[in-house]
Amino acid sequence: MAARVDHAVTSGTFSLDGETFDVDNNVWVVGDDAQCVVIDAPHSVQAILDVVGDREVTAIVLTHAHDDHVRVAPELAERTGAPLLLHPAEDVLWKLTHPGLAMPAPLSDGQEIPVAGITLRVLHTPGHSPGAVCLYAPALGCVFTGDTLFQGGPGATGRSHSDRPTIERSIKSRLLTLPPETVVHTGHGADTTISAEVF
Ligand SMILES: [Zn+2]
Repeated sequence: MAARVDHAVTSGTFSLDGETFDVDNNVWVVGDDAQCVVIDAPHSVQAILDVVGDREVTAIVLTHAHDDHVRVAPELAERTGAPLLLHPAEDVLWKLTHPGLAMPAPLSDGQEIPVAGITLRVLHTPGHSPGAVCLYAPALGCVFTGDTLFQGGPGATGRSHSDRPTIERSIKSRLLTLPPETVVHTGHGADTTISAEVF
């Protein structure tokens, strides 16, 4: 059974620096009929479980620790029995969202996460946040970019713990070097491709 990408959108809020915004977040589920990996855990456990169905969740990978991406991560881990994975440089943001909870298991650049006969390769792409990661799935011809790259360009860098030159460096060195036809599944909004986002 070939691996595929499933998807849900959840609605809720994002808060940082004392401001709160309404946001719609993408949840990506990569796997086959038997097992899957969940990418990000925003807003609603039930919306994510509806996509997972009766499959085994082998990991919950968090692209970064802004609260709109990790709000229900602990509950989703408890419900599925799957480990949470997050880059260690996200510890400051994780503690803002989940004070008192231990950091998830560490993601590292170059790490390969197996699922359903394929691998998700971790690309550390700091800038939107210090430990932001993208997940590249060569076998599927796609990359999951969280809030690092959107349709229309780089993710936001106007708030605490973000840095514009750093995100530009990450995108140019780690994403724009992928095959140009690679489909980009983003953390918010529509898909794009690498070739459409060259800047
Ligand atoms: Zn974010």
